[in-house]
Amino acid sequence: MKKHNFSAGPCILPAEVMQKASQAVLELDGIGLSLIEISHRSKEFVAIMENARSLALELLGLEGKGYQALFLQGGASMQFLMTAFNLLDKKAGYVNTGTWSQKAIKEARLFGEIVEVASSQEDNFKYIPKGYAIPSDLDYLHLTSNNTIYGTQIKEFPKTDVPLVCDMSSDIFSRQLDFSQFDLIYAGAQKNMGPAGATLVVVKEDILGKVSRKIPSMMDYSVHIAKESMFNTPPVFAVYVSMLTMQWLKDLGGIAAIEEINERKANLIYSEIELNPVFYGVAAKEDRSIMNATFNITDDELKDVFDDMCKEAGISGINGHRSVGGYRASMYNALPMESVGVLVDIMSELEKKG
Ligand code: PLP
Repeated sequence: MKKHNFSAGPCILPAEVMQKASQAVLELDGIGLSLIEISHRSKEFVAIMENARSLALELLGLEGKGYQALFLQGGASMQFLMTAFNLLDKKAGYVNTGTWSQKAIKEARLFGEIVEVASSQEDNFKYIPKGYAIPSDLDYLHLTSNNTIYGTQIKEFPKTDVPLVCDMSSDIFSRQLDFSQFDLIYAGAQKNMGPAGATLVVVKEDILGKVSRKIPSMMDYSVHIAKESMFNTPPVFAVYVSMLTMQWLKDLGGIAAIEEINERKANLIYSEIELNPVFYGVAAKEDRSIMNATFNITDDELKDVFDDMCKEAGISGINGHRSVGGYRASMYNALPMESVGVLVDIMSELEKKG
């Protein structure tokens, strides 16, 4: 049976990327060796890394603008501390929009003073705070563009002279933005790029070198830049698959093309949530994420019926995060429109039954 994978965690890859990635594990483009057997210093892998780094900048429209793209390890969680290690001299601001922001705040507190400039915690992070004041003496302001757990997404980023650092783990490459407004962007690969194991960091070089502390080599963005993202052995498979996905996205027409598809998927599910009295949305309407739609069922007695219908249709991964409950449909770039259609059909069928 065809599966429709709405899970929030793993990467959903385009079929052709999956095909090429599986082939590369057996043998990389006719070189007689598997991708995971070749040296990361081989000319084949060096070319893959270079291509991945330049595709990232190209897709984000940041080529030739003083940015460097790196593929590092340790997930987005490592970036919670690495950003602070490299950029926090005295004081940084954080917007608290959920669990992941809180984890970033916790790590950053080890390095300096943290000002929580805004928070939506009092309403279980159902909305994105807006119109908050940003102190001008911050080393940077940290934002989480898409809150995977709560289904909220920042639509407009604050205009400020303070450098912006943004965790884009769950919506990187999904919508057009002026990416040059950010000084540092990071994203774990495992939602819109490739398998877990690589983390994309895009950093404007001129914000580095301003902190007074000593930075261990593995934590130092400048070291990784100087070594062209090969200071230590990179996660070759995750980087290769990320490269394939970025190439797929470029061939599709780039972020503009996928944004249109993502908007259509999100409109389809949110219209159903709006019109169908059996369901209600969790996140504030104006802040709804186009990647993760959180919703709940009005009548608990229909829950088992809905769950069974989903199971029968091959829908998986739509249970909400334990801190929110209900349902969450994650619609990352490679999730086909057809899958959203199948889910929406079941939702409307349930209405007829209810
Ligand atoms: N930030 C966001 C927005 C996330 O959704 C996640 C994981 O889902 C993380 C950070 C943590 O990522 P990792 O597991 O790569 O450390």
